[in-house]
Amino acid sequence: MDNIRSVLAQSGLPLLEARMIIGHVLDVSRAWMIAHDTDVISPENLRQIHEMISRRQKGEPMAYILGYKEFMGLEFKTTPSVLIPRPDTELLVETAIAHVQTKPGARVLDMGTGSGAIAISIAHFCPQATVLASDNSAAALQVAQENARSLGVQVKFINSDWYGQIPPGKFDLIVSNPPYIHQEDEHLVQGDLRFEPQQALTDFNNGLTAINKIIMGAPGFLHDGAWLWLEHGWDQAAAVRALLQETGFCKVESRKDLSGIERISGGQWQISE
Ligand code: GLN
Repeated sequence: MDNIRSVLAQSGLPLLEARMIIGHVLDVSRAWMIAHDTDVISPENLRQIHEMISRRQKGEPMAYILGYKEFMGLEFKTTPSVLIPRPDTELLVETAIAHVQTKPGARVLDMGTGSGAIAISIAHFCPQATVLASDNSAAALQVAQENARSLGVQVKFINSDWYGQIPPGKFDLIVSNPPYIHQEDEHLVQGDLRFEPQQALTDFNNGLTAINKIIMGAPGFLHDGAWLWLEHGWDQAAAVRALLQETGFCKVESRKDLSGIERISGGQWQISE
């Protein structure tokens, strides 16, 4: 009879992933699994576990198999309609939160929100902020809306092609993790990225098209003294800083993620002091 110990031994997956799958199907903690590793698993649960293990063996991301991913300590529903939230992006959220904390009632815009991870995390940690989040994918917006509901935060969602459908008005902060991977980047056809929505990863160009649009359009939507922060690729920081400076942003800077890579760049809009 199959038990947790035998499934772990035969899964062919890293122990952590096999444990996550078993824990998810049985709805039990890691500690429970260790204490009960010789308990027999029911045929129905075993069927589900084997199905998930085989999806993982074919390369499907854990976040799509389990249907969720943790980000900023919160659990986000993830489907193949949305990019999987990544730890790298926590830097963008932490930077945004630090800005909002200096202005608690800030109006924040998150462009290309996907699962809503950025907008919802900001709203969660800064409950006084007013957060608007846009995406041009109706399927993504549905996932984001579900996440806002299940995490109990107020975020307004809007279907918009970058600034196209954003109602006129000014924000104190605009953030975005746009599609920035170069269309010829080999990573697009490797690992998790193969399963993610391509339009969330690449601009089907040199990786700077969306970034360019967001920067160029930002001045019309930013208060004097407001900030724009963008996530970008490992080799794009200098190009993004140049775009920000050419557009008229001040205090332009890049910040490094935990791996020491310049991961986000931002600037302040035209404060006249
Ligand atoms: N950081 C992601 C990756 O390199 C890409 C996310 C994006 O394009 N916005 O896998």
